[in-house]
Amino acid sequence: MSLIHSLVCVQCQTACNDQNATTCPACGPDEGILEIRFNLAAAARSLNHATLALRPHHLWRYRELLPLKPTHTPDLDHIGFTPLIETPRLAKKLDLRRLRLKDDSRSASGSFKDRASAIGVEHARQIGFTELACASTGNAATSLAYCAAATGLNANIFVSHNVPEGKLAQLLAYGARVFRVQGSYAQAYELCSKACKRLRWYNRNAAINPYLVEGKKTAGLEIAEQARLDPPDWVVCSVGDGCSIAGVAKGLHEMRALRLIDWKTRMLGVQAENVAPIVQAARTGKLDRSTTGDTYADSINVPVPRNWRKAVRAVKHTDGAWVTVSDDEIRYATRLTGRLAGIFAEPAAATAIAGLAAARKHNIIPKQASVIACITGNGLKDIHGALTAVGAPNDINPDLDDVLRHVDHNS
Ligand SMILES: *Cc1c(COP(=O)(O)O)cnc(C)c1O
Ligand SMILES: [Zn+2]
Repeated sequence: MSLIHSLVCVQCQTACNDQNATTCPACGPDEGILEIRFNLAAAARSLNHATLALRPHHLWRYRELLPLKPTHTPDLDHIGFTPLIETPRLAKKLDLRRLRLKDDSRSASGSFKDRASAIGVEHARQIGFTELACASTGNAATSLAYCAAATGLNANIFVSHNVPEGKLAQLLAYGARVFRVQGSYAQAYELCSKACKRLRWYNRNAAINPYLVEGKKTAGLEIAEQARLDPPDWVVCSVGDGCSIAGVAKGLHEMRALRLIDWKTRMLGVQAENVAPIVQAARTGKLDRSTTGDTYADSINVPVPRNWRKAVRAVKHTDGAWVTVSDDEIRYATRLTGRLAGIFAEPAAATAIAGLAAARKHNIIPKQASVIACITGNGLKDIHGALTAVGAPNDINPDLDDVLRHVDHNS
């Protein structure tokens, strides 16, 4: 028996009793996103500081709060428990008392999405699937391909034609079957859903799979443990579909409900200024489905997010805030994060730092605050994007005078 209590629709709040449902039958696949509620009283019986102290440092240490049967033994035990890195120089540059980075750029496939894919793949294994599928512009797909390779399953990936090369190479290296769709992302998504139905493949599309956000939640559970005695005032997440920030907030919330921490923290959500439908929805209460802008931060380039309600609620319930940043601000943040924290962030990850800088500038976050920012993806995933941000090398002849000339220039 798993400790799932119910699946509740985020729009109509109705509990759905069918644990195989993907979306609310009344609200439909666009708005009827389901959220898993756990029996926290039962979880508290075995999940406490004493038992946690004895468990290995990967995401299965939170077994009671994850949607798998207790009889299922997960294969994927190299995901989770990424470090929380103290970054005094970056904090100083942002005029902030304290900044720690939750560094998921060093996760197995190089992004935060590994947390969600691990749950998806183990859930698929538990119910007997061997073929997995997903439509994604990048990290969801690469993490699925990684998890499939690591457990001996097959991944079928639908990407749009503008997928960054680093991510494409990763997919192929992990041995996924890649369908590069000559069409929009929406068409790739639709095609993936149809293929899953026809071919009986497990669908890892986060938008309609309520299990995945529970994986993303583990970042929040970890932050709670790692900062238990030293809590942050704010946690910063970049936002595309909205599932990640909602997951982190859910993890922090459940740790508090279990009394494993006694503090609350505020959530800062960051979107790219040209693709910010959730920031807008937080103001107006509804989603404008006609966003047409663009950002080079491909992982958060989501004009029609599905998990927007969850994201809006996560920020609202924590008394948090929303900011938007330009692509140039993201590029600047990429340089700062690399130089001052030693972390090479992909654009969507540097977006969290850009948002933090903006929140400092407008004094949404005060100087004396202690902040944790989630670094969600590795810079090597999008080399072309990175090269537009990080400057150019010194081109020289093999001649020491050339070296000296440049050193003079720069010092
Ligand atoms: C997916 C992703 C995000 C945003 O997560 P959402 O659930 O789409 O809001 C941020 N950064 C990176 C690197 C991602 O891959
Ligand atoms: Zn509903």
